[in-house]
Amino acid sequence: MAAEKRILVTGGSGLVGKAIQEIIEKEKEPNEEWIFLSSKDGDLSDLEETRSIFSKHRPTHVIHLAAMVGGLFKNMRRPADFLRINLQINDCVLHCSYEFKIQKCVSCLSTCIFPDKTSYPIDETMVHNGPPHPSNYGYAYAKRMIDIQNRAYHDQYGCTFTSVIPTNIYGPCDNFNLEDSHVIPGLIHKCYLAKKNDQPLTIFGSGKPLRQFIYSKDLAKLFVWVLRNYEDVDPIILSVGEEDEVSISRVAELIVEGMEFKGQVIYDISKSDGQYKKTASNMKLKSLYPDFKFTDIKTGIFETVQWFQENYDSARI
Ligand code: NDP
Repeated sequence: MAAEKRILVTGGSGLVGKAIQEIIEKEKEPNEEWIFLSSKDGDLSDLEETRSIFSKHRPTHVIHLAAMVGGLFKNMRRPADFLRINLQINDCVLHCSYEFKIQKCVSCLSTCIFPDKTSYPIDETMVHNGPPHPSNYGYAYAKRMIDIQNRAYHDQYGCTFTSVIPTNIYGPCDNFNLEDSHVIPGLIHKCYLAKKNDQPLTIFGSGKPLRQFIYSKDLAKLFVWVLRNYEDVDPIILSVGEEDEVSISRVAELIVEGMEFKGQVIYDISKSDGQYKKTASNMKLKSLYPDFKFTDIKTGIFETVQWFQENYDSARI
């Protein structure tokens, strides 16, 4: 008998997609079938390729993760690519979700799309309140448009399209490339090389900026919860609490400890810090899911460091 729910996960081979796969292996419901896509299944920035994927799998639900993703320095180098490719992917996936009468589509925004000049903590009502930080405006405006698309498809066609807003994500299977990665995987890779080559570890920027990090396995559990339980078009922030915000230098200390690196640590303040902070409120999540327990950052970083060391040959570097 065919499963009642066929859930198509775009970007299923990435950091978040792999974490959802792991969670689903443990807690799949009997009436569900999960399909995890990678770019090898087709280019989701192309409407015809996207249609043929939807036509092949006939999903009833979509978790939309696929995106051009990268850290601060890749964002600063390629704003036009981040804007155009992400607009195209989102347009194809959301339009096919409408055409194929998807019951619910949950897309992924990010806290780095919030206004640069704002009051803190940031909440879900503030996504469009002013320009994003100049370092990632291409990515940010493309992501903000998902929220607009969700509302438009809801208002015109009655579609249940919604979105989640995770803070910085980290975990196994991340992109650890030295040029293009986010801060935690980038530092893990650098620290690994510094230890191997007996050299100092150089950290870009002052180490002072503050961030809320969410472990990919926690985010995966929350994604599944949103798919099953959250019905609003309005986005929901998926984040640890404000009290769990940490500095980049604290993250570096944990990586150094996890990697057992004994060399010198240098902060290169000639490099950009990016936005100083973007503290987000998780009050909405807490009110709807008060019992959720987040992994503490030390455990998450130690597990990720261990994964990277054990999987260096196959990791995305
Ligand atoms: P990854 O870079 O790890 O994975 C990206 C995924 O998208 C991969 O599966 C990739 O496929 C797929 N993909 C990219 N381009 C295309 C395309 N043109 N057609 C089809 N598939 C494509 O991303 P993450 O898991 O880190 O991010 C998941 C979501 O979370 C994204 O929407 C991102 O914007 C958002 N997010 C991420 C944060 C982070 O800190 N990482 C923070 C907040 C939000 P393949 O593997 O084949 O290349």
